[in-house]
Amino acid sequence: MNLSRRLFPSPAFPAVPVEGEAAAYPVHRIFCVGRNYADHAKEMGVEVDREAPFYFLKSPLSAVASGLTLPYPPGTANYHYEMELVVAIGRPAFRVSTADAPSVVYGYAAGLDMTRRDLQLEARAKGRPWDLGKDFEQAAVVATIRKAEDFGPVGPQRIRLEVDGQVRQDARLADLVWSVPEIIAHLSGFYHLVPGDLIFTGTPAGVGPVVAGNVVRGEIDGLEPVSLTIGAAQ
Ligand code: MN
Repeated sequence: MNLSRRLFPSPAFPAVPVEGEAAAYPVHRIFCVGRNYADHAKEMGVEVDREAPFYFLKSPLSAVASGLTLPYPPGTANYHYEMELVVAIGRPAFRVSTADAPSVVYGYAAGLDMTRRDLQLEARAKGRPWDLGKDFEQAAVVATIRKAEDFGPVGPQRIRLEVDGQVRQDARLADLVWSVPEIIAHLSGFYHLVPGDLIFTGTPAGVGPVVAGNVVRGEIDGLEPVSLTIGAAQ
């Protein structure tokens, strides 16, 4: 059988715009770090630990552009925003050190890790995977990538989110429990990271629900804001 002949077309992987580039950044995988701000871990009823970071994944096909109106997703009554710094990998990386990790970063973007919180917490309580809560259609909103050299060192930048103009999340990237180099060094011990891999680095305290009609806007100093309008349920 000729595997290049397909019964129906393979889906096109999403791509993310890049500041100053005519070409977009094609998404290959989406890794997400759990509980990476101490105040958010506390509000979720758990203590953050420094044993090791942990991850969940979203399908790359769930990546979606900023600025859209997206329907309230099915199967949830507690749909949450999570404002996050997104790291875009730009070079192959396997077992890189924290010292070498910055050299594999292509750039950064503001992102929303949209979450069906009720399904995530139900799964967590039962010791089950989080997929239903985290990995669903259009659940990874990513704004324009800014190249790392234009963004500068991660640290003092503020990370904020507003719903209908009301501030809900307000922290600094320096509050990350696991820094970007630490995350890349750790994750690259388990995966051969390649260009196209995005890493959502976790959300600060202040997560909460949204409903149809809400406008979510997230900002990180030095990056294009990410926004999302919640549409009616499908
Ligand atoms: Mn998250």
